[in-house]
Amino acid sequence: MHIKPYIQSILSFSPSQKVDLLRLDLLHPIVSGNKFYKLRFYIKAAIENGVSKVASFGGPYSNHIVALAFTAKEAGLKSIGYIRTNADEPTTPSLAEAKHYGMELVYLGRTDFQSKKASILETSDAKSDTYFIDEGGYGSIGAKGAATIFTENDTAHYDYIVCAVGTGTMLAGCINAASPNQKIIGIPVLKNEGSIESEINALLLDKNNQPYTLLNQFHQGGYAKTNPTMIDFMNRLWDTEKIPTDIVYTSKLLFGVEQLIQENYFEKEASILVVHSGGLQGNRSLPVGTLRF
Ligand SMILES: *Cc1c(COP(=O)(O)O)cnc(C)c1O
Repeated sequence: MHIKPYIQSILSFSPSQKVDLLRLDLLHPIVSGNKFYKLRFYIKAAIENGVSKVASFGGPYSNHIVALAFTAKEAGLKSIGYIRTNADEPTTPSLAEAKHYGMELVYLGRTDFQSKKASILETSDAKSDTYFIDEGGYGSIGAKGAATIFTENDTAHYDYIVCAVGTGTMLAGCINAASPNQKIIGIPVLKNEGSIESEINALLLDKNNQPYTLLNQFHQGGYAKTNPTMIDFMNRLWDTEKIPTDIVYTSKLLFGVEQLIQENYFEKEASILVVHSGGLQGNRSLPVGTLRF
């Protein structure tokens, strides 16, 4: 399958620079955005390994878990999601959706999630009928898939490419696919303690590849945290450009880009590609009517 997402110019951000948006959010209503690309080679590997099941790990609002449930079903594979909540907590729209696509949900609880995850991975062996994918799709196979976002779309001529960063897998794919003169910028949406950089570096094919920059000032307090300024920004972006964004990733990304332009971060003549990585599901946790889209 070869898909051509649409590139939209964001006219209101800058009078001089070319600011374009790669609308991966328009790819598919469920496997929206970067998740399709990140999962494609994991699914391929699972099929090649001859397993009947894929499994992964995630929080109760994980776009990755929903995308995996759907993609696995399409590929004729069973799926298991190990979830970082307790079974007696109210379900979320994301988990209900994953279940709807046939995913078996196993609730690992909020404490000891990482050690429980490690012991599940340890006890699965080469003969296992399950193919495991790390939390959030993190890993080199995910980065290889994410690289195809950039090789299958016309992105090589931009001076800058800017992406939101969760696990950093998409950004690593972007860096691996970029041409040497391109400058890659990642905007982390988590308040991380510095580990994200080594996690990204672990996925780079060529350690001497062009440098990339992480800008840590746009996380708005941490994962899935938002505030009235961001909500106003999201509504304004919808009103002026008809661009829908989500509270977890793309509002922080585009808010950051607009701010950087206002601070003259980019050269006057620079062309900038922003990756709209999809995933509006996070907005379902807002009260109805908060957003105008
Ligand atoms: C998952 C996701 C990301 C983060 O991708 P990583 O590869 O984990 O960094 C960014 N944007 C959206 C919309 C996502 O759903």
